[in-house]
Amino acid sequence: MASDLEQRLDAIYEIGEGPGANRPGYSDGEDEAHRLVAGWMGEAGLEVEVDGDGNLVGRLPGLEPELPEVWSGSHLDSVPQGGRFDGPLGVLGALEAVERLGRRRRTLAAVAFREEERGCVGSHGRVARAGLPGAWVELHHEQGPRLALEGAPLAVVTGIVGYKRAERVIEGRAGHAGTTPMDARDDALVAAAEEVLRIRDVARGIEGAVATVGRLEVEPGGVNVIPGRVTLTIDARAPDDERLARLLDALAIDPAGAVPPTPLGGPPADALRAAIEGRGIPVVELASGAGHDAGVLARAGVPSAMLFVRALNGGVSHSPDELSSPEDVALAVDVLTDALDRLASS
Ligand SMILES: [Zn+2]
Repeated sequence: MASDLEQRLDAIYEIGEGPGANRPGYSDGEDEAHRLVAGWMGEAGLEVEVDGDGNLVGRLPGLEPELPEVWSGSHLDSVPQGGRFDGPLGVLGALEAVERLGRRRRTLAAVAFREEERGCVGSHGRVARAGLPGAWVELHHEQGPRLALEGAPLAVVTGIVGYKRAERVIEGRAGHAGTTPMDARDDALVAAAEEVLRIRDVARGIEGAVATVGRLEVEPGGVNVIPGRVTLTIDARAPDDERLARLLDALAIDPAGAVPPTPLGGPPADALRAAIEGRGIPVVELASGAGHDAGVLARAGVPSAMLFVRALNGGVSHSPDELSSPEDVALAVDVLTDALDRLASS
C-alpha cells in the first residue's frame, strides 16, 4: 500500500486541469492545495498560521517555545504542466517528519510558501515582515541528473548558484542569398553560431558552471537574405563568487548586477550530513542550479540547508515526467526527520 506521503502527493497532483500539475501562484489550484494541507496540519494537531502573504505555517509548539523555531517545507504552486514532486514533496515530507517526531525541545513547523515558481513571492514577503525561524531545512526533487549519474539517492546542497543574464549583438552585412559569393559574405548568423559554441566551451572549462544561449533573433530574417544582425541571449551560472567572476570574465559579460551565489550550510546542513552518515550512505554535495525559498531565507540570515532526492527519467523537472522512486522518497523523509530531530532537540 502506498504511504500517506505518496497518497498526499497524489491528492495535490490531482488538483487542476491536466496534463501534469497546474497550480500557478495564487490561483484556485494553489489555494486548494493550501486548504488541503492546512486540513492535514489541523488533523495532525498543528497550530496553523496563514500569514499576510498566504504562506502556511503549521506549528507543533516545543517544550521550550521561547527558543528559535525549526522550520521545514517548500512550496505548493507549480509551473503549467509541472511534475508531481517539485514543491509538494518538501511540504509533505516536512509534515510527515513533524507528525512522526511529536513535541521536541524547540517548536517545529511544516511550511508552505506561496508562489515560489515566479520569484519566491511568499518567502520574500515573509522575510520582509519578519517572524522567521532559527533554522530552515528544505527537501526538494533534484531537478537534474547528477545524483542518478553518481548512483546516490541524496545530496546535501552546498549553495544556490549565482547568475547573470546578458544580450549580445553580432553585426554582419545583409545581402542577396543568390548573388553574393561565399567568400564575399559577412554573415552575422555564422558568426553567432561560432559564438554559441565558444560560450558552451567556456562554461565546460569551469567546473560546475553552466551557460545557455536560449534565444536568437536573426535580422532581417528572410529565407533568401544573408543575416545582417543577430541578437542572442546568454544565461550564465556558477556555484561560487570566484567561478562566477571567472565565467563572466571569459564570456565578456559585465559582472555588475549579477545575482551572487548563496551559500547554504551551518547547523541545518551539519544535521543533514549526520543523518545521512548515520545510515551508512555517502554524503554527496551539490550546488543547486535553480533558485529556491531556502536561498531567500539564507540571504535573510536564517541558517538554511537543502536535501535533494534523486531524480529519475534523466533528471527531468517542470514536466509530468518528473519522477523519484518511492524508496528514495522514503529514505529522504527518514533523513529529514532525523535532521529535524537533531535541530529541534538541541
Ligand atoms: Zn520547487
